[in-house]
Amino acid sequence: MIKPNAVKRGLIGEIIKRYEQKGLKVVAMKMIKMKKAQAEELYKVHQGKDFYQPLIEFILSGPVVVMIIEGPRVIEAVRSINGETDPLKAQAGSIRGEFGISVRKNIVHASDSIQSAEQEWKIFFEENEIFEYLCGFENEL
Ligand code: GDP
Ligand code: MG
Repeated sequence: MIKPNAVKRGLIGEIIKRYEQKGLKVVAMKMIKMKKAQAEELYKVHQGKDFYQPLIEFILSGPVVVMIIEGPRVIEAVRSINGETDPLKAQAGSIRGEFGISVRKNIVHASDSIQSAEQEWKIFFEENEIFEYLCGFENEL
């Protein structure tokens, strides 16, 4: 997910480009203004933490771009492209490392496991919004 500050800064294309050029496949994508219930579901594991409420407010502060990405080792791949949670600790060439400073406004969100991905895509997508097509990385699986 591309967070609201990154959408406002015009980074949508720059971010999607990095997943595509790594060889990953975007199989669903849309821009939405998240509903409060969706934000609370997405971040339910952080409920009660001190950063939770400001994080929810930030995520609701403007449109976000949500997408489903497929590929070999996709969880690891996307999290490595994104970089560590704190942009100042994130690898220099990563998205957060290059474009972020604030931990809360750290440019992107990604699922941290296949199980959480399955829960998270259901918050934003219907089955018929997810596409199946061949893109080339299938040979690398
Ligand atoms: P992620 O999986 O790398 O996005 O990190 P987490 O799942 O741990 O946290 C979810 C989001 O909450 C992060 O992307 C940050 O935007 C925010 N967050 C996490 N830890 C902190 C913190 O210590 N301070 C603040 N302000 N925000 C945090
Ligand atoms: Mg997380």
